[in-house]
Amino acid sequence: MTRKEIWVVVERIDDEIEDVSLEILGKLTVLAKSSGYKIVGIVLGTAKETVLREVIRYGADRVILLKHERLNEYSNDLYSKVLFDLASSEFPTALLIGATYYGRDLAGRLAARLRTGLTANAINLEMDEEGLLIFGVPAYGGKIMAEIVCERARPQMSTVRPGTFTKVYDRDRKGETVELIPDLSSVQDRVRVIERKVTKSKDLTKSERTIVGGNGIGGDISLIRKLAELTNSDVGVTRPLADKGIAPRELQVGTTGYSLKSKLTLILGVSGSEHFTSGIRDCGTVISIDIDKESEIFNHSDYCVVGDVSEIVPAVIKKLEEKR
Ligand SMILES: Cc1cc2nc3c(=O)[nH]c(=O)nc-3n(C[C@H](O)[C@H](O)[C@H](O)COP(=O)(O)OP(=O)(O)OC[C@H]3O[C@@H](n4cnc5c(N)ncnc54)[C@H](O)[C@@H]3O)c2cc1C
Repeated sequence: MTRKEIWVVVERIDDEIEDVSLEILGKLTVLAKSSGYKIVGIVLGTAKETVLREVIRYGADRVILLKHERLNEYSNDLYSKVLFDLASSEFPTALLIGATYYGRDLAGRLAARLRTGLTANAINLEMDEEGLLIFGVPAYGGKIMAEIVCERARPQMSTVRPGTFTKVYDRDRKGETVELIPDLSSVQDRVRVIERKVTKSKDLTKSERTIVGGNGIGGDISLIRKLAELTNSDVGVTRPLADKGIAPRELQVGTTGYSLKSKLTLILGVSGSEHFTSGIRDCGTVISIDIDKESEIFNHSDYCVVGDVSEIVPAVIKKLEEKR
């Protein structure tokens, strides 16, 4: 018998909780209002009291702390073991994880061990009267929005795309904290963290102004970086540019990247596939430049410029530099 509980694996680095974990909690507070399901945040490691309190304030009714020094650094071996043990003894109805590097790595193995289904990269989440979660995921090259349900196996599992949902903070929210100490004595961790280097990259979901480059800009993003610098904007790219190593993965916009909420977005040489446009649906004003007047991106733009970015961008940069 499953418990009327939806679990969220809370990802954190030291005292900093990943936004996506808080966004999932936020969405669940809205769903849980009408359904009577309890929201449970699962925190791993030796997290401070302040972290646990934040998880409650962002929406959890209960926090389970799996307390162990060895869980302070993410490890697929250890995390999948302790979460498997806990979920197999407590039977939550659903278990959700952010679609981050660690979330994607963890979710697949955990779902396989729990013998349940896994929806990847959900960008929508609803619940029917029986507590069946309906995960929305773009499918068939983004042409349709598939609704995925896991009818029989439990827990229902999904990873959720960062930047999709809105955080809900309530300072006065009260909740319970349960501390468990997992037995890890028999578990071999095949990966050992020797050193952790934190590279601070811009969180694209918080950008006010973004310039996004696609295949049409060629194999070099230095020009759009220059334009971004001159206009005080951040840089994003489509997936092919991240795949080819032209730009870091943290800059990818779209279904398997980040969702923008920029007030002003300039899109250069992007064809406008659904996998990309799902990442700009919450943007304010969108201006696009594409050489092809039939480009799909124009159907998602407020201002459309037909032209060659390799001519327009240098000309704009020149003008801006003259103005300086
Ligand atoms: C499961 C899955 C997940 C995916 N997730 C993502 C994702 O998160 N993000 C993402 O972006 N994609 C994603 N994709 C890929 C996506 O389907 C598209 O292939 C991709 O978005 C296309 O990138 P693009 O628009 O840069 O390139 P293209 O489709 O090649 O488009 C290039 C555009 O540039 C224009 N152009 C060419 N030269 C010039 C020029 N000189 N000046 C002006 N315009 C020019 C062309 O007319 C064209 O419109 C995913 C695909 C799959 C299957």
